[in-house]
Amino acid sequence: MSDTQVVTRFAPSPTGYLHIGGARTALFNWLYARGRGGKFLLRIEDTDRARSTPEATEAILKGLTWLGLDWDGDPISQFERRDRHAAVARQMLADGTAYKCFSTPEEIAAWREANPRQPFQSPWRDATDLPDRPYAIRLRAPRDGETVIDDAVQGQVRVANDQLDDMIILRSDGTPTYMLAVVVDDHDMGVTHVIRGDDHLTNTFRQVQIFDAMGWPRPVFAHIPLIHGEDGKKLSKRHGAVGLHEFAALGYPPAAMRNYLARLGWSHGDDELFDDAQARDWFDLPGIGRAPARLDFKKLEHVSGHHIGAMADADLLAALDDFLSETGAPALTQRQRDRVAAALPALKEKAKTLPQLLDQARFALIDRPVEMDEKASKSLDTVSRGMLSTLTAAVQHVSWTRDELEGAAKRVAEENGVGLGKLAAPLRAALAGRTTTPSVFDMMTALGREESLARLQDQTELAG
Ligand code: GLU
Repeated sequence: MSDTQVVTRFAPSPTGYLHIGGARTALFNWLYARGRGGKFLLRIEDTDRARSTPEATEAILKGLTWLGLDWDGDPISQFERRDRHAAVARQMLADGTAYKCFSTPEEIAAWREANPRQPFQSPWRDATDLPDRPYAIRLRAPRDGETVIDDAVQGQVRVANDQLDDMIILRSDGTPTYMLAVVVDDHDMGVTHVIRGDDHLTNTFRQVQIFDAMGWPRPVFAHIPLIHGEDGKKLSKRHGAVGLHEFAALGYPPAAMRNYLARLGWSHGDDELFDDAQARDWFDLPGIGRAPARLDFKKLEHVSGHHIGAMADADLLAALDDFLSETGAPALTQRQRDRVAAALPALKEKAKTLPQLLDQARFALIDRPVEMDEKASKSLDTVSRGMLSTLTAAVQHVSWTRDELEGAAKRVAEENGVGLGKLAAPLRAALAGRTTTPSVFDMMTALGREESLARLQDQTELAG
C-alpha cells in the first residue's frame, strides 16, 4: 500500500487571475508530489460557464509557469467531462445510492418555510410511484450518525448527518453539480491527496458522502488555513499585491517566491531560506500550521535578497530579461547584457528585488555622454576634473582589474594630497552621473577599459 504513487492536483476556477493563495495551494501540491516521485495534475474547474473565461485559464497557466511549477499531462477541463459526471449520477441512481426528486423550487421553498432551520427532506426519497416529468438526482445521504473527516491539517472534523440535506448531484436540466464533478474527477484522476484552502472544508463533508456512496476510497484531505494580511485580517486588495502577477511585477524572482510561499503556513524547524531540492525533501503535511499565515513583505524582501544573491549569473540575467518583458520595458541590448553580466557578481549581493538590481546596474545600461544629475555635477569642478585627468593617464596601461585600478586611484589621490573619497566622488559622477552607485572599481571593471576611459575623458575634456 505504502508504495502507491502520490497524485496531487491543483483545481483552479478560471474566473480571474492567479491569486497568491491559489499559487501557494499549487506550490504545496507540487512540492508534495515532486518530493515523493508523484504526479502533480492540473484541472480547470470551468463548469460555471458564465464566469469562466479562456483568458483566465491562460493567466493561471502563465502564473504557474512563471512560478516554475510544472504539471503532468495536459490540463483537464472539468466542463468537458460532464457526460462522465452525469453517467456516475445515473449509476448511483441504479445502485440506489441516489434517487429521483420531483420537487419544484416552489415546493422546496414552501417546505423550508414550514420547517425553518432544517435541511430540506425530499418527499421522493422513498417514493415508489414516480411521475413522468423532469427530476433532479439527489444523493441518498445517511440521516443518522456523523460524517467524519480525518484531515491531515485540521485533525478530525465531524458533522451530524441530520444537518446535511440530500444534495443534488444532477440537475433537472441534466447538468452535473460542482460537488459531483469534483469527486468524480478526483477519483478518475487517481488523486491520492487533496491539499486546498480550508474554505473548502464544508464542501468536503458533502464530497466524502459521494466517495462513500460510490465505494471509492477517499483521498487524504489537507485543508490549509487561508493567508491573512499583515493586520491579521483576510487578505484583500487593500493589503497591496494579491495577484501572483503583481508580485512578479514588483520584481521578486520566482525562486524567492517559491521559498517564501512555501514558508507561508508551513515550516520546517527554523529554516527560513532554502532551495527547491530542500523544499521538496522537507515538505510534509504535519508541517502545515493550523493558524492562518500572515503575508509579510519585509520577510519576502529578505528571502528575495537571499535568492538574488544565491542565483547563478545566467539565471539572474534570465530573470531580469523576463522581468523587463513582463513590465513592458525594452529588452537589454547585447552591449547592456554584457556589461550587466560583468557587473552581476558585485551587484547581486546587495539587491533585494530585480528593480533594485536594475537600479544598481543603471551605470551599465546608460550610454555616453553620461547625463549628470545635480548632485553628481557638484563633485565635478576644475580641481576634481584635473585629478580625473591624472587618473586617466595613470590607468591607461594598468591591467584592468579591481586591485590594479584601486592601487592606481590611491596613488593619484595621494599625489594630490587628498583621501580616496575625494577622488571617488568625481570618478563616480563621470562613470554613472549620480552619487549612489556600486563601487567605482566594480563599475570600471564591468564597463571595461575603453568605455570607462571614454567616460572619464568626456569629463576631463571639459576641464579645458
Ligand atoms: N475550484 C476550486 C477553487 O478554485 C478548488 C476546488 C478544489 O480544490 O477542490 O477554489
